[in-house]
Amino acid sequence: ATVAQVVERVDIYHLLFSCLFLVQPTTKLFIDGKFVDSNTTEWIDIPNPATNEVIGRVPKATQEEMLAAVDSCSRAFSSWSETSILSRQQVFLRYQQLIKDNIKELARLITLEQGKTLADAEGDVFRGLQVVEHACSITSLMLGETLPSITKDMDTHTYRLPIGVCAGIAPFNFPAMIPLWMFPIGMVCGNTYLMKPSERVPGCTMLLAKLLQDAGAPDGTLNIIHGQHAAVNFICDHPAIRAISFVGSNQAGEYIYERGSKNGKRVQSNMGAKNHGVVMPDANKENTLNQLVGAAFGAAGQRCMALSTAIFVGESREWLPELVERSKSLRVNAGDQPGADVGPLISPEAKARVVSLIQSGEEEGARLLLDGRKVHVKGFENGNFVGPTILSNVTPNMTCYKEEIFGPVLVVLEAESLDEAISLINANPYGNGTAIFTNNGATARKFTHDVDVGQIGVNVPIPVPLPMFSFTGSRGSFRGDTNFYGKQGIQFYTQIKTVTTQWKAEDATLTSPAVTMPT
Ligand code: NAD
Repeated sequence: ATVAQVVERVDIYHLLFSCLFLVQPTTKLFIDGKFVDSNTTEWIDIPNPATNEVIGRVPKATQEEMLAAVDSCSRAFSSWSETSILSRQQVFLRYQQLIKDNIKELARLITLEQGKTLADAEGDVFRGLQVVEHACSITSLMLGETLPSITKDMDTHTYRLPIGVCAGIAPFNFPAMIPLWMFPIGMVCGNTYLMKPSERVPGCTMLLAKLLQDAGAPDGTLNIIHGQHAAVNFICDHPAIRAISFVGSNQAGEYIYERGSKNGKRVQSNMGAKNHGVVMPDANKENTLNQLVGAAFGAAGQRCMALSTAIFVGESREWLPELVERSKSLRVNAGDQPGADVGPLISPEAKARVVSLIQSGEEEGARLLLDGRKVHVKGFENGNFVGPTILSNVTPNMTCYKEEIFGPVLVVLEAESLDEAISLINANPYGNGTAIFTNNGATARKFTHDVDVGQIGVNVPIPVPLPMFSFTGSRGSFRGDTNFYGKQGIQFYTQIKTVTTQWKAEDATLTSPAVTMPT
């Protein structure tokens, strides 16, 4: 690293944490282009999930601070929305390079606060970076439509305009990717943005904000507040905020959707999931089992698109012992340790919940083929670890099937036919993602056609669409009508003006009033 890069990094540290000599480094607010200390008296500890040592604290922003943040967004909107689209594009072109240059540091912060492995944390940044790269195509994405000669001498065209101050409320499980689904798309369209990261993992968002500032985003175009319910209610209620993007649990997402909508805001709410992977007997066994293990236990199952439920159709059930063997080979360890495959869960409470759901499965008649509850991680005995766990003979009435477990637990059901598997999936309230593993095109086509789920993989276990498409979770996994990123993301963050013009030649001037509806 050059001296400048080292100085920069130290600078970032100072911005992230108020003072290196404090026992608990303090996360700042980002208001009107400045990283500032909060005056609050209420703080939330940030523990390292691998050790449960407190590594920092995050403020619950005061009402005054939240008002200052939204006022800053409102003031910045008048100039940012009028800044040429080419200039806004330039900011995001510089931003994507800065994210690439700092990917290791962003990943380090993610692993420290969230727990996932460093390699997976880089993937988290990378998938967010792709959204920023896509945002750089804004000059094409924001094009309007034109239809000449609607009638004689009359043309119609539409154009997209920003809507004002927008806000994002993010979950803990993707500290980089999900905030990057939000403010880059909102801002490149000409909106200003108020971001509330998850109070459990604020560090990565703070560094992303610093990099955006370095990329040339003017003061006030992005503001960051921290907190929990009071901050969420503030966002739902403040009249200057025109749109809210939420990602997280159903409990919070349904509440925010209702409260925000009641206040006249656009709301898009991506929520919980129970994603089923259907294993057909004609599938490539080696590939399928490896994909299932990776998609069930990667990120310790804390992904909204984790393949947490497998349905083995017909004789594919004979592959279960091999699935168990492969799952056993994963290494459970702190995310920053070499070779770690499965990191800790986010909190002791999350671990206790996962453990109790495994127990409920046993009590309700499931077979525990692999039990990760007693996993021992040398040197990290206080971490929130649960090892890969597999429950088979699960039925839809069991608690472990009905609830989103959000941990490294794969629940296994069996079906006699593809139709039975599809019926099971369609009867489940969630509709985030699903996958089928098969070598038969007709089977795959029937599945993709008949299954009522928004994102489907054929031999692809985690079919999260790239940003030129949109994230199209459905049914119980989504509230709203316009999805995140892709064309729908641009639609969510813009409003349309439609202009109809008539330029008549002198000799075509109307000679009397036209009182009937024009046809
Ligand atoms: P969460 O709902 O607990 O928190 C998300 C955000 O909402 C946080 O910023 C938090 O401060 C706020 N919040 C929490 N509880 C609230 C409440 N009762 N009222 C108002 N605000 C509240 O979610 P989480 O635990 O951080 O994330 C895990 C959940 O997110 C899982 O259910 C997962 O499936 C879901 N998720 C969904 C997607 C998707 O795209 N569908 C992506 C990632 C995560």
